[in-house]
Amino acid sequence: MSKIIAISNQKGGVGKTTTAISLSGCFSKLNHSVLLIDMDPQGNCTRGMGLDPTGIRKNIFDVLSNNLDINKVIKKTSTKSVDVVPSNLKLATLESVTSNIEKPFYLLKDAISQITKNYEYIIIDCPPSLGLLNLNALCAANSVIIPVQCEYYAMEAVAQILSSISKIQKDYNPDLEILGFLLTMYDSRIKLATEVTTEIRGLFREKTFVTQIPRNISLAEAAFYGKPINLFRPKASGSLAYISLAREILDNE
Ligand code: ATP
Ligand code: MG
Repeated sequence: MSKIIAISNQKGGVGKTTTAISLSGCFSKLNHSVLLIDMDPQGNCTRGMGLDPTGIRKNIFDVLSNNLDINKVIKKTSTKSVDVVPSNLKLATLESVTSNIEKPFYLLKDAISQITKNYEYIIIDCPPSLGLLNLNALCAANSVIIPVQCEYYAMEAVAQILSSISKIQKDYNPDLEILGFLLTMYDSRIKLATEVTTEIRGLFREKTFVTQIPRNISLAEAAFYGKPINLFRPKASGSLAYISLAREILDNE
């Protein structure tokens, strides 16, 4: 059975999509198969894996809203043993089109139940909100990685997501585990970045990955070229950091 990991933080631009793509690429480099699911209507994860969200007719929206077999929307990518379930803007309407369903929280969990034997990891890229899409991701996942940008208001976002995760554990998914907080876009020259890392590590020592992700322009460029960082620029500091994160996750299993 796959290990299903959601990458979630309702705060925007903290490195969720970059982490979802880079970790998928690094798991593949370490010989593990991955299905990467884009649960964000922005489609950044789809684009970052080299696919054009506007050119794909059926996607995760059709699976969740209309019971389309998920196998029909899975796309191969140029990264060995990484497949993608794409999204596009239509996904933003999921809440309104499922308003007749009493508890539309398990749509994703049900949709992937038949394919969890096909991949070692399923990684879900979440949107920057605490709405239905995020809820579906956290109800389908075994664990969650929370990227925390070493920046202003990081702690407020962490407090919010912790309270939302404990509600989900209580009401919908008791098995959901916090795999770890991941410090992202770390720049040691910025005093605030050091302060945020010290604070997070002080509060959540056991639950913060030892690996932290440096600010590295190659990560932004890799997204533009539609490739995981380890394939785009394997020696970049961002690539080495995500390989180290993948190893840390594998070692802790
Ligand atoms: P959203 O909430 O909009 O989905 P997100 O949390 O998925 O955003 P990303 O899209 O991964 O965040 O990152 C936001 C921006 O920062 C992107 O332009 C990305 O390329 C860039 N970025 C992410 N991580 C790094 C990093 N470690 N160093 C430099 N740039 C980064
Ligand atoms: Mg994103």
